[in-house]
Amino acid sequence: MSHVNGIIRDVSRYKMVELQLRDSEEHFRMMFESSPDGLAIFDLPITRFMCNHQFSQMFGYEQHELQDSPWQKLMRVPDNAVHGRMDRLMREGNIDFNAILFTKLGKVLYCNVRCSRFHTSHGPRYCAVVRDMTDRRTLEFQLQQYSQKLEKLVEERTQELTYYSEKLEQLVSERTAKLEAMNKELEQFAYTISHDLRAPLIAIEGFTELLKDELADALTDESAEWMNIIVNSVQRMNHLISDVLELARIGRVVGEKVEVNLNQVIDSIKQEFQIRMEERHVTISVPEPLPVIKTDLQRMRQVFQNLISNAIKYNNKENIEVAITAEKRDDNMVEIVVRDNGIGIPEASQKEIFLLFRRLQTGDEEDSTGAGLAIVKKIINSLGGEIWVESTVGEGSAFHFTLPLKAE
Ligand code: ADP
Repeated sequence: MSHVNGIIRDVSRYKMVELQLRDSEEHFRMMFESSPDGLAIFDLPITRFMCNHQFSQMFGYEQHELQDSPWQKLMRVPDNAVHGRMDRLMREGNIDFNAILFTKLGKVLYCNVRCSRFHTSHGPRYCAVVRDMTDRRTLEFQLQQYSQKLEKLVEERTQELTYYSEKLEQLVSERTAKLEAMNKELEQFAYTISHDLRAPLIAIEGFTELLKDELADALTDESAEWMNIIVNSVQRMNHLISDVLELARIGRVVGEKVEVNLNQVIDSIKQEFQIRMEERHVTISVPEPLPVIKTDLQRMRQVFQNLISNAIKYNNKENIEVAITAEKRDDNMVEIVVRDNGIGIPEASQKEIFLLFRRLQTGDEEDSTGAGLAIVKKIINSLGGEIWVESTVGEGSAFHFTLPLKAE
C-alpha cells in the first residue's frame, strides 16, 4: 500500500501581501512618472540608476543611455568633481545645489538638484529631484536688465528735469529782476512827474487867487464862478497827484515791521472817525479779538482807514454796520475781513475797483479820487498778502485780505 503525503498550506496570506506589494509599487510608479520634476533613484557608488520620463526627456537621453555614469554625462565635468558631490551626499545624506547641466545635444540648462537618502532592504538608496530653472533664470536676468535700463532712463530723465527746472528758475529770476527794475523805474518816473507837476499847479492856484482879489470888482458872477471852478479843479488835481505820489512811495519806502495789535489800530481809527460815525449812525464791531501781527503799523492804519471809510461812504442804510474779523490760516497767514451792509459792488466790477483811479460812483466827494483801493492793494501786496472782495449789490461787501503772521 502506498501512501501519498500531501501538505496543504494556506497561501492566501502570501497572495494578499503580494497583491498589496504590487499595488504599492503601482502607486509609486504612477507618482514617480507623473511628477513635473525630473526624478532619479540610484545607489552609491552607482550600479543602478533609474529615472522617470520627465528626467530623460529634460536632457534628451533614452533612459538606458543614462545607466552608465549619468551625472558625469549631465555635468560634463571631470569624474573627481562628481565624486566630490557624491561623497558629500553619502556622508551627509542630503545635498541641495544649483548646477549647469547639459542636454545630449549640448544645450545648457540651469537646474536645481536636491538629493536625499532613503533606506531599503538592499541598503541605502538616493533620490534626486532635478528642476529646470532655465526659463526662470532667463526671466530674472531679463527683468534685471529691464530694471537696470529703467533705472538708467529715470536717472537720465531726472537729470534732464533738473537741468530744465534750473534753467527755468534762472529764467524766472532774470525776468523777475528785470520786471522789478522796470517797476522801480516806473515808480521813480511817477514820483518825479508828480513832483514836477505840483510846482505849476501851485502857481496856477496862487495866481488865480491873486487874480480873484485883483479883479474882485470887475468880475461878473459868471466869471467869479469860473475862477472858483479853476481853484477847485486845481485842488482836485493836487489830490490826484498826492495819490500817485503815495502809490509810488509804497514800493520805494518800506517801513519797519513791528508787533502790531490790530485791536488797538481799530480803536484809534474809531476815535478818529467819531464825528462821522455819530452823523451816519455807524457801528464798528470786532466780535472776536484780533491777533497781534508783525507788520508796518502806519501802512496797517492806512489800510483800515481806507476800507472803513469806504464802508461808510458807499452805504445808504439808516444804520451802518461794519464788522472786522480775523482768522488764522494753516499757511501761517491771517485772513482779515472788513464787512459792511452798504450798497455792494456788481460782480463785473469787483476786480476793476482795485485799479488806479477806477470809480464806480461819479460823485465829486473831495476825498474820492479812485486811488484808495489801488493804494490798499499795493500795501497788502508789498506786505506779502492778497486782497479781494465778495459782495452782493444792495446787501453789502466783504473785503478780505491776507497777511503773514510773522514778518520774514
Ligand atoms: P474812492 O477814492 O473813489 O473811494 P477807492 O479806490 O477807494 O476809490 O474805491 C474805488 C471804487 O470802489 C469806489 O469808487 C466805489 O465805487 C467802490 N467801493 C469801494 N469800497 C466800497 C464799498 N465798501 N462798498 C461799495 N463800493 C465800494
